Amino acid sequence: MAYIQTVTGKVDVEKIRNTDAHSHLIAYATDALIQKDSDLLLDSVDKIHKDMEVFKSYDGNLIAEMTTVDYRSDPEALKKLSQRHDIYIIACTGFNKGAYNRPFLENRDIDEVAAKLLDTIQNGISPSQIKPGLIKIGTSLNEITPWEEIGLRAAARAHLQSGVPISTHTQGGTMALAQLRMFEEEKVPYENLILCHLDQLEDFELHRTIVSKGVFLSYDSIAKAKYQTRERALRYITALAKEQLHTQILVGNDFARRSCLEGYGGKPGYHSVFRDFKQELMQALITAGFSQAQADQIINDIYRENPKRAFALRAMERKQS
Ligand SMILES: [Zn+2]
Repeated sequence: MAYIQTVTGKVDVEKIRNTDAHSHLIAYATDALIQKDSDLLLDSVDKIHKDMEVFKSYDGNLIAEMTTVDYRSDPEALKKLSQRHDIYIIACTGFNKGAYNRPFLENRDIDEVAAKLLDTIQNGISPSQIKPGLIKIGTSLNEITPWEEIGLRAAARAHLQSGVPISTHTQGGTMALAQLRMFEEEKVPYENLILCHLDQLEDFELHRTIVSKGVFLSYDSIAKAKYQTRERALRYITALAKEQLHTQILVGNDFARRSCLEGYGGKPGYHSVFRDFKQELMQALITAGFSQAQADQIINDIYRENPKRAFALRAMERKQS
C-alpha cells in the first residue's frame, strides 16, 4: 500500500480524489513584501473557508500546500483547515527561492541542511509537530545561485534518507534541466521529482523530454491570467496524451494573492482549474480526436490518478554505491 503524509497523518493514496498539486492557503510572506504589496498576505483560516468549500464541491480532497518556512508558512493553521473542511493537506519542508532562501542556505554545509530537513520530516516542522509530505526547493530566473544549489542537493539527500518526494519551484519554467542534472548527480530517481510552473515556458520538446524521464510536471499557472499559460497547457497535455505521457502531468492553482481567492473577495478561485479548465481540456481532447471515454480517462489521470503516484511516500532502498 502507498501513503501520502498529510498534516493530520498518513493517508492511503486510494482515498485521494481531485487534487490541487500546488497551492498556498496560509502564507505570511515577509514584512518587506507585505509593506509593498499587502495582497500577498494570506493570513486567515476563516476567509479561505469559501474557497475550500468550492474545491470540495468539485470533488476535491487533496491540496499540496507549497508555502515554506522562509515565506512564513503555518502548519498548525493548515491542520485547522484540514480538520474544519475535511480536506487532506500536504505541508512542505524546504525552501522557496533566491532572496527568500538565501539567509537559510548561503555558505551552509549541504549535509547539515539535509539533516535539518530530515529532522522536520521525522519530528515535525518546528514549533509544530506536523510532518511535511513534500520537500520544496526553488531556483531563480535563468540561474541557480550557489545557495540554491546547496538547497537542491540538501533536498536530494533528505529525500534519499526519507522517501518524501521533492517538488521544485522553477522561475518562469527556467533551469529545469539544470535542476535535474543536480538531482541526477545526487542519485535521486526521476519519478520522485515534481517540477512546478513549467507551463510558463514555451518549449514542447523540453516538456516531452522531462516527462519521458518519469519526472512529474505541475501545470499550475493556468488559473492566473497574467501568465497566459492556459492555451499552452491544453495544447501540451493533448500532445502528450497522444503518447500516453500525460500520466506525468499535475494541475494546481498556485494562488498566492488575496485577489485570486473568493474568500477574500477575489477571482477566479477554485472554479478556474477544477471546473473551467477541465471543460476546456475535455473540448480540446475531443477536438484532437480522442473518444469521450479516452478524454474522461485522461482527465481522471491528471486530476486524480497521477497525484497518487506523485505524492506517495517512496520506500527508499539503501543502495550501495
Ligand atoms: Zn507557489
